[in-house]
Amino acid sequence: MPDAAATLPSDATLDLHLHTRASDGRWTPETLVERVAALGLRAIAVADHDTIDAVAPVAALAARRGIALITGVELSVRWDERQWHLLVYGADLAEPTFRALVDEQRRRHIEAAARAIAALRAGGYSVPSLDDAVGGRPPLPIYVMDALIRDDLAPTILAANAFVTERLGIPFYIDVPLARAVAAAHAGGGQTVLAHPGRYEPAPLGAGDLARLLAAVPLDGLEVDYPTHTPEQRALYAGLADRHGLLRSAGSDSHGPGRPRDPLPYPAAAVAPLLERCGLRLQRAG
Ligand SMILES: [Zn+2]
Ligand SMILES: [Zn+2]
Repeated sequence: MPDAAATLPSDATLDLHLHTRASDGRWTPETLVERVAALGLRAIAVADHDTIDAVAPVAALAARRGIALITGVELSVRWDERQWHLLVYGADLAEPTFRALVDEQRRRHIEAAARAIAALRAGGYSVPSLDDAVGGRPPLPIYVMDALIRDDLAPTILAANAFVTERLGIPFYIDVPLARAVAAAHAGGGQTVLAHPGRYEPAPLGAGDLARLLAAVPLDGLEVDYPTHTPEQRALYAGLADRHGLLRSAGSDSHGPGRPRDPLPYPAAAVAPLLERCGLRLQRAG
């Protein structure tokens, strides 16, 4: 008999890119699971930035609703002198190599944010939004940058990052080499997917970039379905995934209710090979 928890109906919908308060999202485990249950999604992955703190609580709540959870994290990585986002799905969170990398990233983010907060105070900068942005959580650079924008010390995230890096002298781009992140993810049995390839500044991932990347690093997949991808971008990345034998993924990048959007019902059938590698089988149609 098939394991019901590991099998999805052929017409199931899912969302594999969700953020919670554990990183820069507004969803709590409770509000997130409530919302995806109301939307009828049958599988989800929480992919918080550089932390897995929300995975276990969301998994427990999702299980009670009959929603499958794939473990996930969105790692900040460096390749070709740029920062990219790497989604890791289905990894064993207790595997030591992978866990060490995630824990190290988490610690580096918290330390850099704490240093920046101390430097802002020591420098006499007025950042009244800081407490609200941090919201009683371990501090993260994204909260500091959010407060700098809210308090008119920087107009954009890039400018806020430059403010901390250059004026306060605290490096705020905190990432790991892509090759190291992929190796650690593979040690943990995870699947590595480049997030939102069409969304990078100053230029989206191009066919030539991907060919060079794959010559250097054994990436497993691309996030083909993403809300801000144009139809042309979606077709480009779907074609590149097929040409290079890469897995496809799909996710909304929802950070909270309407922020910038709610979770979305992507068809599970479109990402079946990725699901299968993460231990989730789709029932045959008909
Ligand atoms: Zn991202
Ligand atoms: Zn994201």
